[in-house]
Amino acid sequence: MAVDTTRATTETTPQAPPAPAPLAPPAPEAPPQLPTEHPAEHGALAPVPLVPGKALYRAVLPGVLQVPADAVIAAARKSSLWPMTFGLACCAIEMIATYMAHYDLDRFGIVPWPSPRQSDVMIVAGTVTKKMAPAVKLLYEQMPNPKWVISMGACATNGGPYTRYDRVLQGVDKIIPVDVYVPGCPPRPEALLDAFLALQDKIMEERGAVGR
Ligand code: SF4
Repeated sequence: MAVDTTRATTETTPQAPPAPAPLAPPAPEAPPQLPTEHPAEHGALAPVPLVPGKALYRAVLPGVLQVPADAVIAAARKSSLWPMTFGLACCAIEMIATYMAHYDLDRFGIVPWPSPRQSDVMIVAGTVTKKMAPAVKLLYEQMPNPKWVISMGACATNGGPYTRYDRVLQGVDKIIPVDVYVPGCPPRPEALLDAFLALQDKIMEERGAVGR
């Protein structure tokens, strides 16, 4: 009699349980359904297009620069200073040297002018004696407004070497207002040049106050 060996083997060896299937990643959530406008509302609900504003004068005159009028007037004033030509003592020699070609004040629009009627800057260059003081005051009063004063050197500023002299004015600011003081005895031309640049800065800074 034949023996079924295959069946005997199958029955005696137990089968291993099947491995569990890997978990599938969760499905992404569907975006919430927003209410959509009716096609007839698309035009009414469209965002307003951004149009940069343009001033009328820019449209009419493209490329025109807009600046305050007082800045333009002050720039014109500071670029055309006309100092009156007069000197009182040795500082005047340095003032004259500053006008010469080596320092070339003309490049700043600074032109010496031999009359107080059209001058707008007075350089007090030298010792102001009490005898000369009324003449300095008269010249200042003859200058048209706006006008400025540079006190050049120690004598004009506070008497300088003559501070104990009774007949010397101890500073020209005792009789007229001074805008810029230049130290030295005598100051070099570079110092006077620097005083003019400081005066130009002052004119631009005080442009809103001129004429008030
Ligand atoms: S400051 Fe000196 S250089 Fe100028 S006027 Fe007086 S003494 Fe002369």
